[in-house]
Amino acid sequence: MADVLIRGGTVIDPRGVRRADVAVSGKVVVGVGDDLAAPPGAVVLDATGCVVCPGFVDLHTHLREPGREEAETIESGSRAAALGGYTAVVAMPNTDPPIDSASVVREVHEIARRALCDVEVAGAITVGRAGERLAPLAEMAGLGVRLFTDDGAGVQDGRLMRRAFEYAGPLGVTLAQHCEDAALAAGGHMNEGEWSSRLGIPGIPGEAEELMVMRDVALARLTGGRIHFLHLSTAGSVAVVGAARAQGLKVTAEAAPHHLALTEAEVAGYDPVFKVNPPLRTAADVRAVRRGLAEGVIDAIATDHAPHPQEAKEAPFDQAPPGMIGLETALAVALTYLTEEEDGVAPMALADVIGALSWRPAEIAGVAERHGGPLGAGAPANVCVFDPRVRWTVDAAAGASRSRNSPFAGRTLTGRVRHTVLNGEPVVVDGEAQR
Ligand SMILES: [Zn+2]
Repeated sequence: MADVLIRGGTVIDPRGVRRADVAVSGKVVVGVGDDLAAPPGAVVLDATGCVVCPGFVDLHTHLREPGREEAETIESGSRAAALGGYTAVVAMPNTDPPIDSASVVREVHEIARRALCDVEVAGAITVGRAGERLAPLAEMAGLGVRLFTDDGAGVQDGRLMRRAFEYAGPLGVTLAQHCEDAALAAGGHMNEGEWSSRLGIPGIPGEAEELMVMRDVALARLTGGRIHFLHLSTAGSVAVVGAARAQGLKVTAEAAPHHLALTEAEVAGYDPVFKVNPPLRTAADVRAVRRGLAEGVIDAIATDHAPHPQEAKEAPFDQAPPGMIGLETALAVALTYLTEEEDGVAPMALADVIGALSWRPAEIAGVAERHGGPLGAGAPANVCVFDPRVRWTVDAAAGASRSRNSPFAGRTLTGRVRHTVLNGEPVVVDGEAQR
């Protein structure tokens, strides 16, 4: 593997901000400093005008393989991730078969060896994600699984969830919850409120999310366990998590880019591209989620990249599956919507946005030794280089994902990834995937 020199950028990492070149040899960073010379044969990546930072880590990616390869594969999804600046993603277990046993974990690990980013596997909490009995958490943890979730559904049975907490604690793994009270959400297709009444689409109240957040905070207190809340979308959820953290409970949370940028009003045209679970909420919810992220109550931005084939998303709104793709646009959505004063929410510092995309999710995913750390000599060479100022218009059809269901298609956003280095290998150069 050729050595790499990333020249002319501004390094932003957990240590702060400085102008520096970054030299890579093999799989590690070997030098960070001014005017480093390129060794003979080195690949020189131009970072003029760019930010150079640890690669991003997505806590919430649906790669669809095994079972739904028409929507995405580990190869296509990991290519989209690399183009989005990610060097690691956590693959959700709602595949077919679901990732609920050691054998499926092994199968995904095997396919992921050729991926364009590190693929961490999330295991299911319950067998078949059916919510009835616990999956073999210890067996999967033995293969390196650090996050467990039935994502797509929340674990409805409180007693079973308590047992999951009790098993997870000694294993040192984290439970992650898709917070949704199924009975309260049943039959709903968008946020319940003024817009759902006006459009005649059955709604899902914010309380369906908040009730499970409250229950799991209570169970975390009862068991001393650790919980990560997936894709929080309401002001009430953010308030409950803020209070739990103030009490010192081991609670972390993420928000998806679309919940930081879009409201339920997008559904007005009945376009299923705006159907997602949890649904797009009110402007007040969007403000609260943004504020929660800016204040650190919400730790991470996670994509909930959820590819669906075109035919599925061309169904009528109430029949289309929920989900949006997001790996290639997450950075730009974050920069566009979070770094400017908007709607009374103060702008976030660039370093805090990068922290929410990189080092904070790396900690939650349990991959902080390889991703998200400071870029110093000896650090693993997992690096993202992006231009924070370039404006571009999203063309979903031009992306690497097999699916095109981007709610940002046709919109102009600011900020784009130029290069991504994975374990020392430039997998994206000048915005082009190298394999
Ligand atoms: Zn989910």
